[in-house]
Amino acid sequence: MSMSEKKLRDVLGEDYEKVKPYLHHYNGKAESVKPVAKSITIYYIARAADRLTIRTEGEDDIILSEIVRRTVPTIIFRKLKAVYLRMFMELARLQWAKHEGAIKGVWFPDVNFINSCSLAVGLVAEKGAMLGRCMKCPVDVLMGATSAREEYNLVSRFVGDAAYALSSDFEKRLGIAVDEVSHTTIMLTGGEKEARVGERTGGVYSMAFVPPGTLFVGKVVLFMPSPPELLYSLWLLSRPIRAGARTSVQGTLEVVPVALIGDLYEVGTAYEASERAYGKADLAEAKEVVLKYVESEAYSSGSGVVKIDERTLGELAKLDVLDGELVKELWESAKKYVDGVVDYVGVGKTKAKKGS
Ligand SMILES: [Zn+2]
Repeated sequence: MSMSEKKLRDVLGEDYEKVKPYLHHYNGKAESVKPVAKSITIYYIARAADRLTIRTEGEDDIILSEIVRRTVPTIIFRKLKAVYLRMFMELARLQWAKHEGAIKGVWFPDVNFINSCSLAVGLVAEKGAMLGRCMKCPVDVLMGATSAREEYNLVSRFVGDAAYALSSDFEKRLGIAVDEVSHTTIMLTGGEKEARVGERTGGVYSMAFVPPGTLFVGKVVLFMPSPPELLYSLWLLSRPIRAGARTSVQGTLEVVPVALIGDLYEVGTAYEASERAYGKADLAEAKEVVLKYVESEAYSSGSGVVKIDERTLGELAKLDVLDGELVKELWESAKKYVDGVVDYVGVGKTKAKKGS
């Protein structure tokens, strides 16, 4: 039994046996990357820890959806995935810093992760910019990536639903931007570029906030996760995240995974779960409703609903994510996945032929 399997057993207890059939082992060969119906669905509840500005795409600061004929603030999955991608990248960066020799020496002698796969602090040209992807690290392998440098693409096996608030409350605040030089409320809309063409707007702006304590229900699905991928995903999903506007000092969400289901297909939708739990302001109550919903949706073929309780969360909190053995398994699994993809696509063979 590998270290990540042992740790999963510590985290999930006896339920680990139920989940085990939905874990996948990559062996570096084409057949191990061919899609098989193995998925692990994870439901979570997130609580706004402060006033949350959900400034994503769209015209306004807040994205709204309709559930049970009410309009509720919504965090789209693309936003959530970007947050988890960044977090996973930060973790991989720490792992690389601590175990660079081992990772390079054994698995990826040709990859300098720090230079070729980064969107982390200090290396980006501008805030939020991505320099590129190495196409080999555990982050790219699980979350998906494309690069012009490689002849293969990596499909994302980390997907999910939007997270819906269980309350319709949000505040709109109106503000006035005062120009520092003229003390008028005229402001420029887009920095220097627009200043040149002289485009000006009035200084009134509005921002929408979700009040602290608001609960959201969301769901993540992992397709064909390897044991270390499930372990690290559970860990990531039990951390507080910053889902607000990036420059904002606000926007912290406490995330609590509540249930996990292994099955051939993903189970249920966050939309329906939040419809059932709408109006709940208490985390324990919301959790109960979500669990009940997931139980009613789970297929009989699957693992059944594995509840994530305080004990499980305690084990996740104790997990040493920089442990040499675990890091080795995570990066090794990524290497075997990439080798499998290369074998499947056949690009490895062409390269070998050219070389000989
Ligand atoms: Zn990478």
